[in-house]
Amino acid sequence: MLALAGERDIAPREFNLPATSDWRKLVMVFNSLEFDKVRLYAGVWGGQGGQFWIDDWTLEEVGPVNVLRRPGTPVTVRSADGATTHLEGKDYAPLRDPELNPYRVDREAMPLKVVPGGRIAEGDRLRVNWHHSMLIHDSQVTLCMGEPAVYEIFDHEMKLLAERLRPRRMMLNMDEVRMGGTCLACRGRPMGVLLGECITRATQIVRRHMPGAAVYVWSDMLDPNHNAHGGYYLVKGDFTGSWEHAPKDLIISVWGGAPRKESLRFFADRGFQTLVACYYDADDLKETQAWMAAARPLPKVRGFMYTPWTKKYGLLPAFGDLLVCEWPPDRLESSTCGTWGQQVKFGPRRYKLAPPPPRTLH
Ligand SMILES: [Zn+2]
Repeated sequence: MLALAGERDIAPREFNLPATSDWRKLVMVFNSLEFDKVRLYAGVWGGQGGQFWIDDWTLEEVGPVNVLRRPGTPVTVRSADGATTHLEGKDYAPLRDPELNPYRVDREAMPLKVVPGGRIAEGDRLRVNWHHSMLIHDSQVTLCMGEPAVYEIFDHEMKLLAERLRPRRMMLNMDEVRMGGTCLACRGRPMGVLLGECITRATQIVRRHMPGAAVYVWSDMLDPNHNAHGGYYLVKGDFTGSWEHAPKDLIISVWGGAPRKESLRFFADRGFQTLVACYYDADDLKETQAWMAAARPLPKVRGFMYTPWTKKYGLLPAFGDLLVCEWPPDRLESSTCGTWGQQVKFGPRRYKLAPPPPRTLH
């Protein structure tokens, strides 16, 4: 299913359905935002064989589901003419969703309950404004980088991490920032600046609890050749220039699809150290070799990360062997493998690399 406003996909959503199954009910939410026309599609794109049916397709305006309640996302209830703003708790009962769950939208909207003795009379027409979560593709939910509580939570987590594990390297899992610029905590902020500040604050918090820790970050949101641009998913604003607001001592984990020669060059030209995050569950290491070739002429390449999305570690020994053949060991500060922030360091200058113990990889 697809909801397009102009060329903009306003509800990027995927459903992972089995090839053969009984009827399934699929439900998705879109917010028409500032648009007055939306085109809706249902179908299969790129299908090559088989049969499927779509039936009982319905479209309905929904009330408050997954209502967000934080300082940047107030609920407002006004009279239809806008003249009266009603008070939560006095005129209407608090609109809090006890079943808040961004992964579930297939349920009844909450009723707005009128408080007896308040100013809302039977038959009054109201205008109710609220913010709600959106699920992107099949799992992505974005936080707001402008909301102060984010940094309090992060600080608490880093404190615990320092107490229990004290890692020397940290990967900030800040990639694919699909939403932003739409609530009161972030609206109107230049998104590139906001993102740079968010990464800077996160880095400062990491170092406050773990002085001297090396901080890595995924490259895409800092890379104009990848996701650092305008018109990105449901973001209102433009990530262009984000790289100018990120700390210069970050190590950029360059990733994404085919070997990204221009991305590696982009970060090298700006003096960043890079970690090349390559592989992505391929059946061979041809693309990994191409990544290595692209990185070869560049300075400050700190290492290569075996990067699977699906715990496919079969080519890890060959990856290590390839790395040792292709790259003189003294050019690398570290060779790592891992997925989504999990990293395992290989011993230096070993020419036959055994896979690390499985415990560390699951
Ligand atoms: Zn926000």
